[in-house]
Amino acid sequence: MTYRDVERYYEELRRNAVAKRDYYRALAERLPDFIALEQEEKAALMALYRAEYEGLSSADGLRQTAKQKTAAKNAALAAAGINPDDLTLHYACEKCKDTGFVDTKPCTCYSDARKKILLERGVTADFPSFASHTAKKEAALDKFHHSIQNFSGIFPETQVKTLVFSGNCGTGKTFLMQAFCKEIEAKGFSVCYHTALELNQLFLDYHTTKNGLRADIMDRLLLSDLLAIDDLGTEPILKNVTVEYLLSVISTRALRKKHTVITTNLGGGEVLSRYGERLFSRLVDKASARWLLFRDIPDLRLEPPAK
Ligand SMILES: [Zn+2]
Repeated sequence: MTYRDVERYYEELRRNAVAKRDYYRALAERLPDFIALEQEEKAALMALYRAEYEGLSSADGLRQTAKQKTAAKNAALAAAGINPDDLTLHYACEKCKDTGFVDTKPCTCYSDARKKILLERGVTADFPSFASHTAKKEAALDKFHHSIQNFSGIFPETQVKTLVFSGNCGTGKTFLMQAFCKEIEAKGFSVCYHTALELNQLFLDYHTTKNGLRADIMDRLLLSDLLAIDDLGTEPILKNVTVEYLLSVISTRALRKKHTVITTNLGGGEVLSRYGERLFSRLVDKASARWLLFRDIPDLRLEPPAK
């Protein structure tokens, strides 16, 4: 892992925070009265600040007016199904605003970020192979290691097309998924690998792009022999984007008998409540999907995967 990987990780977080804010801002601006309501709110706040600054007795009344204007604006947003809070920028770490640093010193989120990059997604270009398991990891992952290796052996002629590796951080699920991807690629099949954050950004690009890039984005996601999605559940849910495109990509791939593999810290119930019934039923379809539950495996995070 290089410093550039850490930088890229934080860039991705910031890009997602800004993209989410901009997306909802654009949705709000399309409402017929939002701009006017917002201007009224701004004017009321300006009048209030001036009155407070000058110590005028009218401040109390103006405070009430400003509150009403904000409430009117928020009501218009809520009526359109937009959470007013989504119009402001929210970083994953408010302390460092997703830069990793507070005044030149590493933020408290920095070492977690490094660990996450190193162990959960850091080897994108050079995935571990099944053979690189240490003895400890081998024993811990035994249960799944062999079934995934067998699965790779008969790929793509498997009945099951969708695999979900569900469990806590550090249980080796990303390691196993990357080794699986590597094996499939070595057999000459195309593999498209994305973190859920990256995938969400691609969906947003697709949703907001008008030019020829659009088709390229979807083609890559739909045509690859294997689509791997790492860390599903860590991405912000964007209205009309995240769940809709995820459902569309996963359903289309299932219909075309294409393989998809997903890792997630979420359990089944959490997937259901976060992504809804339709996506959930795709992922638990008895004929075509399997879940591997990593919850019984000890935390392996202290031991980086050997190359
Ligand atoms: Zn931080």
